Amino acid sequence: MSEYEAVIGLEVHVQVNSASKMFCSCANKYGQEPNTLVCPVCMGYPGVLPVPNQKAIRQTVIAGLATECEIAAYSKFDRKSYFYPDMPKNYQISQYDLPFCEHGRLKISGKGFSGEELEERYIGITRIHLEEDVAKLTHFGTCSGVDYNRAGVPLMETVSEPDMRTPDEAYAYLTGLKQIMQYAGISNCDMEKGQMRCDVNVSVRPVGQQKFGTKIEMKNLNSLRAIHRSIAYEIERQTELVSEGVKLQQETRGWNDDRGESYLMRTKEDAHDYRYFPEPDLMPVTFTLEEIEALRAGLSELPEARRQRFVAEYDLTPYDADVLTHDKAVSDYFDRGASLVKTPKLLANWIISELLRELSDAGIAVDECKIKAEQLAEMIQLIENKTISGKIAKTVFAEMFKTGNDAKSVVKKKGLVQVSDSSAIEAFVDQAIADNPTQVEQFKAGNVKVLQYFVGQVMKLSRGKANPQMVTELLKNKL
Ligand code: ADP
Ligand code: MG
Ligand code: ZN
Repeated sequence: MSEYEAVIGLEVHVQVNSASKMFCSCANKYGQEPNTLVCPVCMGYPGVLPVPNQKAIRQTVIAGLATECEIAAYSKFDRKSYFYPDMPKNYQISQYDLPFCEHGRLKISGKGFSGEELEERYIGITRIHLEEDVAKLTHFGTCSGVDYNRAGVPLMETVSEPDMRTPDEAYAYLTGLKQIMQYAGISNCDMEKGQMRCDVNVSVRPVGQQKFGTKIEMKNLNSLRAIHRSIAYEIERQTELVSEGVKLQQETRGWNDDRGESYLMRTKEDAHDYRYFPEPDLMPVTFTLEEIEALRAGLSELPEARRQRFVAEYDLTPYDADVLTHDKAVSDYFDRGASLVKTPKLLANWIISELLRELSDAGIAVDECKIKAEQLAEMIQLIENKTISGKIAKTVFAEMFKTGNDAKSVVKKKGLVQVSDSSAIEAFVDQAIADNPTQVEQFKAGNVKVLQYFVGQVMKLSRGKANPQMVTELLKNKL
């Protein structure tokens, strides 16, 4: 089995953030009552005329700029003909030979889904084009429902070169693409809401062979985990067949995540089956060099640049920066808080080891967290100015996470202010020394490790509130 290698190419659709749909003024909004965001245009009534959404076109160009594509000075929309109840016009407005963006690339690095460190390299992007989403079909046993709210939502398709070789690389590519879309404000890419959908193309070939094997396309993959699993499954299935001498046919398969199996849907149609031709109701779209450069200048900070800035500006390790930039909302959260504290590294540690874990346990996103960035920064300030110890901060943090109260008020209400008054600490120190004559002897005999024991005793007596540095100093003097 090991003499075969896999070749993987991905076609990724994302719904573009915009107020209105691609060719009409209906709202582009998720989760509304079915068929309430509709009009004659997106319902495909005869005789209506589409008007293109300028913002969606700009967003597509921005996606191209963020992935090092060439932006077309001249492009156009085409009709892709097909018959299916999700598309009442019987054609989808898409782009065929003149897409907005071509010849880009995306760097993959970091860890794959299985946690393995990946070799850093570029995956080619063939093209990025813009089209309209189709209606959503829901099947109820003996009948089906059509929701046209989704019909006409701007949908951007990014087609990769067949450059990936392992499920982990495909995972890293998708994660990278998703990050870019989110950072550039192009799409939220929430896969559970269908805002990011992926078709996977997989083939296998003997190692050393130049020519690609027969490609199988898989559809209906709705999570990164499913994508990773399905690719691994498909590589194994094809390798087994090919090594038995079976000649594969081009086909489209579905993925059943419950069974962990792919299944045949249909043998593959060719492009000419779609009868592509230029959309006669829309003008070609042109961009001047100045317009493209203006969009490039307005490009927001991308994940890679933000990682580098976090390392340089806040003195984080590349690992910290990587974890903190994985999700744009988390990196914004850190960025907001970091500017308010003296030691951003301390804030980073709290986010990475406490906040992210609590969020994942609670199953919520950082935006839904009761502790706002400014509030966590205030708690860090309390540690920095020694009002509370790191240990007490855990109690404060837990209370803040539960209630959303400010750090200062939690500290006050619970009486958690660190004791930095030396006479108060001295009393605890004296008591600890009086209570433990044996350990005092041990210390005097040269066993300096006993000092830690005393620190522990004093902290206990002060119920964790004594300033640990002062405790250590006082103990050294007294002992
Ligand atoms: P189609 O016309 O069938 O859509 P394309 O040539 O446009 O095929 O490719 C669609 C996707 O499949 C692209 O992402 C491409 O990289 C990938 N692809 C093409 N050939 C192969 C292959 N032999 N094995 C795996 N992926 C492939
Ligand atoms: Mg295709
Ligand atoms: Zn409409």
